[in-house]
Amino acid sequence: MKRTWCKHLPAAELLIKGGRVVDPESGVDAVQDVLVKKGKVAEVGKSLKAGKNTRVVDAAGMLVLPGFVDLHAHFRTPGREDEEDIATASAAAAAGGYVAAFGMANTDPVVDTATILTGLSQRASVDALVPVGFFAAVTKGLAGEELTEMGELGAAGAVGFSDDGQSLKTAAITRRALQYVKVSGRFVAIHAQDDSLFKGGQMHEGPASARLGLTGIPSLCESLDVSRALDIAAYEDADLHVCHVSSAASLEAIARAKEAGVRVTAEVTPHHLVMNDEVVATLDPNVKMNPPLRSEGDRRALVEALRSGLVDCVATDHAPHVSEEKDVPYEEAPFGVVGLETAFSVLHAGLVEPGELDLATLVTRLSAAPARIAGLEAPAIAVGAPADLCVIDPAAVWTVAPHTLQSRSWNSPWLGNELTGKVRLTVAAGRVAWDDRA
Ligand SMILES: [Zn+2]
Ligand SMILES: [Zn+2]
Repeated sequence: MKRTWCKHLPAAELLIKGGRVVDPESGVDAVQDVLVKKGKVAEVGKSLKAGKNTRVVDAAGMLVLPGFVDLHAHFRTPGREDEEDIATASAAAAAGGYVAAFGMANTDPVVDTATILTGLSQRASVDALVPVGFFAAVTKGLAGEELTEMGELGAAGAVGFSDDGQSLKTAAITRRALQYVKVSGRFVAIHAQDDSLFKGGQMHEGPASARLGLTGIPSLCESLDVSRALDIAAYEDADLHVCHVSSAASLEAIARAKEAGVRVTAEVTPHHLVMNDEVVATLDPNVKMNPPLRSEGDRRALVEALRSGLVDCVATDHAPHVSEEKDVPYEEAPFGVVGLETAFSVLHAGLVEPGELDLATLVTRLSAAPARIAGLEAPAIAVGAPADLCVIDPAAVWTVAPHTLQSRSWNSPWLGNELTGKVRLTVAAGRVAWDDRA
């Protein structure tokens, strides 16, 4: 069944020459040429020859990787097309090396009926540069009370169900949602948050929040809700996905559950992997997100969990906001940052280069692992596979600025910063979706 949609583009005819191909799925890490014919990987090897209509891409010194899959983005459509829409979100995804991305359901209106979901998938068939798909809400209007028609929404192509942006209010609604997804073969993705502990929170609760005089959001706010959902998933033997894990306490709960055989997967964002709550001292509204940046101990635990596979994948939680919303004092700014276009650069420069994570593991967590959770075929640079890949110059330096981003919003923690590592080419579903080699 279809779970992603994309506009029609001509099939790629490419010879990508002399790049370092790193594909953990195929067990490859070597300098190779990759020949793409009619949108499929036709050959991988040395000294391959281009055909007549084949464009040659010089990838010397570059990485050639399976394309990335983002399980968690906010496309802001319907309702806030001033912040993002399917065309700009998918362009941002392509520019970040992503070959598929999934939008959350907390739009206006909420994606809680098959009619709204079908409207979005039709729009994506016209506008999306890379295949995109959609979560449907667990509860009508995200109100936490009445379940959506999950069977119909699953049949319309919802990749999974989530009230992301909000917690699932009660154990009873979490339980019923998990019972339903068992039937539909999907999963429930939770934004874990105990609302009574969250109230008025501005940043992680710890020494930094005390020093800055900002209301703290304790780790417990997340880990309590994670534990409850894990207990229910265990009881119902149903698939649960934990969004944007931010704390060591949540990781401990997930580790215990995985050990006990609970069907749980988890994601972590790039910002939680490379920053801690100390940066909030800048009072930059672009380091305000929910869950908040945690302590250095939490950050280290997240990196270790990503390395070991306890956390299955990286997801961006790409959350565009117009600059007028973010150009306010920290306390008044909304939560959320964009992330599709900076994910690889910050993780490669922040974790792989210093030796905290090896490149192959990062690639798996960005590509094959999230693809499998979404029920997609894992992107692979293997003969016969559809061309889902990206070419990245790991040494290129670029500045994060409104005009260098494809997203309609630029509320990035790295706004104005120089990043190292730039995606030069993205081929998604056999089509060139991004080409920045100029
Ligand atoms: Zn969330
Ligand atoms: Zn989110």
